[in-house]
Amino acid sequence: MSSSAKAEVRIYQNYINGQWVGSSTGETFPVYDPSIEDVIANIAAASSDDVDRAVVAARRAFDAGPWRQTTAQDRGRVLFRLAAKVNENASMLAELESRNTGKPIVEAEYDIADVATCFEYYGGLATKVLGQVNPVPTNALSFTLREPAGVAGQIIPWNYPLLMAAWKLAPALAAGCTCVLKPAEQTPLTALEFASWLEGIGLPPGVVNVVNGAGEITGAALVAHPGVDKIAFTGSAPVGKLIMKSAAETLKRVSLELGGKSPNIFFADADWEAAIDGALFGVFINQGEVCSAGSRILVERRIYSKFVEAMTEKTKRIKLGPPLDRNTKMGPLVSKDQYERVTSYLEIGKKEAKVAAGGSRAKQFSKGYYVEPTIFYDVDNSARIAREEIFGPIASVIPFDGENNAIQIANDTPYGLAAAVWTRDIYKAFRVVKSFRAGIIWVNHMQPTYVEAPWGGYKQSGFGRELGPWGLEEYLETKQVFVNLDETPIGWY
Ligand code: ADP
Ligand code: MG
Repeated sequence: MSSSAKAEVRIYQNYINGQWVGSSTGETFPVYDPSIEDVIANIAAASSDDVDRAVVAARRAFDAGPWRQTTAQDRGRVLFRLAAKVNENASMLAELESRNTGKPIVEAEYDIADVATCFEYYGGLATKVLGQVNPVPTNALSFTLREPAGVAGQIIPWNYPLLMAAWKLAPALAAGCTCVLKPAEQTPLTALEFASWLEGIGLPPGVVNVVNGAGEITGAALVAHPGVDKIAFTGSAPVGKLIMKSAAETLKRVSLELGGKSPNIFFADADWEAAIDGALFGVFINQGEVCSAGSRILVERRIYSKFVEAMTEKTKRIKLGPPLDRNTKMGPLVSKDQYERVTSYLEIGKKEAKVAAGGSRAKQFSKGYYVEPTIFYDVDNSARIAREEIFGPIASVIPFDGENNAIQIANDTPYGLAAAVWTRDIYKAFRVVKSFRAGIIWVNHMQPTYVEAPWGGYKQSGFGRELGPWGLEEYLETKQVFVNLDETPIGWY
């Protein structure tokens, strides 16, 4: 098995200026299937010289290339063609995404469908970028042009690889920017397959470049490069802070979508079946490797014991299995590093709280980074498992007494990406909505994400918004044009 798998190992290069090029240092790095811990591809590692070549290509394509002359209609059509390519290749992409990340194939299929929708959405939006006429009081005309921000450096995480690439590439291209994309080193495969269509659909060389490698080398070189105008990043808060510091040297625009420790709040009057489902879905979908995971589950004390019991009962029936099995509800974690990180929190949690379900590696698998879906309860909000982002299938259940207490606990976190509240009481629901300091609030649901609606965080979950018209804003500059309509000289001197 492992020798035949090894025979399939493919080598991918970097996509720079419309060409596939190897690394200037000759270095490669392996990419794994986390369910069998086998290498499935080798990737040319982009050095800082390679990043420089990619940025120079993007710079040239932006400053002097034909992309600058394209109409909004043509850019929209390019995005529609990309959406069609994604749809045509949906099953290949979903399978590759599932194999490389460990996520269940059924979830990967939803991701890929969302990728196509994202390109369609921004294809449509490309022709709706409007300027304004400004009501200046003098005998003059002032108007505003919206122009592309320039070369965008885009650094993405491994949990939704192609979808996170789409959230950044689609609005950037709609705006007329050029891009240097750096996929997460664990999961570059779908972005590289995607890049193989760019020439064929008529994208000029240099408009989209893909460079691969470690964050500290390839990613850092992109952030520091003076030829990049804007950095868009999705990833961990510590790296977000490093990026902001580095980008300060050249005063790049930055947008950051960082992690979270999102509260999922259940009042006693919530619809019971929906609530239990929502609590589990909120924290266990995609193995809990979700920035908006509802990893703090706040439950009103009146229903607390029964709630923990019902969650536990259902959690024990969650089917772990190989990612490509259609019955699998939870696959392995993405990498050995992530497995070690998550299992270390299992040990921390056992000292801080009680275990209702899970608590260890899923022992039925001899290989693969499988971790049991785990519920800790009687968690204090000051515990590490309630404060730190784990990015794995670990829920911390916290009891509360009444609305004010729920709001106080919910907001007592350095993060502010998302939150959810479950109740049948519309007054209470909206009071709670207004009190949360978070960028996304769901009422009686958790996790649905649509390209039409904004996504991003408050507090240490970052700033800037992706998706919808907000996502396009991130890639636009504003130019004010003043036209004097009065022929009289200024007459000042
Ligand atoms: P994780 O540790 O869970 O992989 P990261 O925030 O480190 O999360 O990774 C998200 C993305 O940021 C990846 O593409 C990674 O390569 C990149 N990255 C990591 N460190 C840096 C850095 N110092 N500068 C730029 N990019 C980085
Ligand atoms: Mg990291």
